Amino acid sequence: MNDHDRPELEDEPNMPSRRSFLRTAAVGAAVVGLGGTALAAPGPTAGKPKPFSLKEGDDAHTGMLYRAIPACKIRISEISCNPAGDEPLRRMVALGCNYFHKVDGCGTPEFRQSLDWSKLYCDVVIDNTGKQEAIDEFERKRKNTGVDVIDFFKIHSKLTKPEQLKTVTSIFDAFETLRDQGKTRWLATSLHDGGPEMVDACIEDGRFKMIQFPFNPAGANDAWKALVKKAQAAGIAIIAMKSMAGGPSKWAESEAAKAVLQHYFDQGASPAVAMLRWILAQPGVTSIVPDSPNVKIAEENCSAAGAKLTAWEHEGIERFAAAMSGIWCRSCRTCEGSCQAGLPIPDLLRYRMYAKDYGNVAGARKLYADLDESRRAGACTGCGQCEKACPYGLHVRDFLADAHRRLS
Ligand code: SF4
Ligand code: SF4
Repeated sequence: MNDHDRPELEDEPNMPSRRSFLRTAAVGAAVVGLGGTALAAPGPTAGKPKPFSLKEGDDAHTGMLYRAIPACKIRISEISCNPAGDEPLRRMVALGCNYFHKVDGCGTPEFRQSLDWSKLYCDVVIDNTGKQEAIDEFERKRKNTGVDVIDFFKIHSKLTKPEQLKTVTSIFDAFETLRDQGKTRWLATSLHDGGPEMVDACIEDGRFKMIQFPFNPAGANDAWKALVKKAQAAGIAIIAMKSMAGGPSKWAESEAAKAVLQHYFDQGASPAVAMLRWILAQPGVTSIVPDSPNVKIAEENCSAAGAKLTAWEHEGIERFAAAMSGIWCRSCRTCEGSCQAGLPIPDLLRYRMYAKDYGNVAGARKLYADLDESRRAGACTGCGQCEKACPYGLHVRDFLADAHRRLS
């Protein structure tokens, strides 16, 4: 594998010709212990060097398809890696996954050390917006990762209003400093909040090469689909997260959704794989970062790549999406202006989902505790104005009461 297998932009400043490990003493010792362990399966870019192409293709002959990010002139796998254990991630790399989201949380240091990073791409997310704090966070995560160049510096859901793209300059200064030092390459953002206006503003902004936000059959209305196409036209990657619409625990909140899934996926077919295929069929989606907590789910997720939805599956997923409408918050924030108490309603509903549907009770409680008491669900007066404002008919009051019970 040579560096020219990975097409580079010619005008990148100070970019090292290839990536190497930092080889701290601790990691170096681990490498010796591994005895040079490497994946036996072909890597994601194995084979002859290919010129950069916009057309999706099975570059590694594993069945995984790769899609272009024109703004970066790179190609990443349709299914990407999320933080998980070594074994599912090792399997995903063997099946062709070549992108790591939150790479510092992906597997053990020994696992990360065992990978050939000249064939892979990765990001770290940055939660701090102050310049030095953001640089310190980036450096801490880069060292923990053991890779000397992190491809994407991903601003993590801290900018939620379009005007902040102009006013919070410190985070952009941090990125430019690190990029000029050759430690990162491109700017990205992960948006949990802000709704379509924020995604649109990030596309229009021109600095972001990758935008990640919740995108699944339950939440992807025409406005979201139009934004994905707009990003594609601008050469920007769209990474879909929250692809399972909360997963089985969330689906079970809707009797109608349960009935649809039983009807359409009663012969052992996986609704999860169908959802991934549905997302990949939306024009402009570059990749998905589904949770892959074990090898079986990792393999199932990867099986979604390169395969088309059947007409039956498509109908099932569309009907499932309609059935989920009243329980899936799209983070559109339409309701917030109507709340006299000023509650961050979509955030509260999302924290509830982390606890109830993802099983991350401690993480959700931490997020909840970080809110001022006046912004927690306990401050809801029960006036119901948010439910009148919500275009999707969510029973916000019930969900907030449940959130407060779970998270207090
Ligand atoms: S019911 Fe609660 S969350 Fe909804 S508008 Fe009233 S105070 Fe706000
Ligand atoms: S509760 Fe309804 S209006 Fe409020 S953010 Fe969620 S989907 Fe939008």
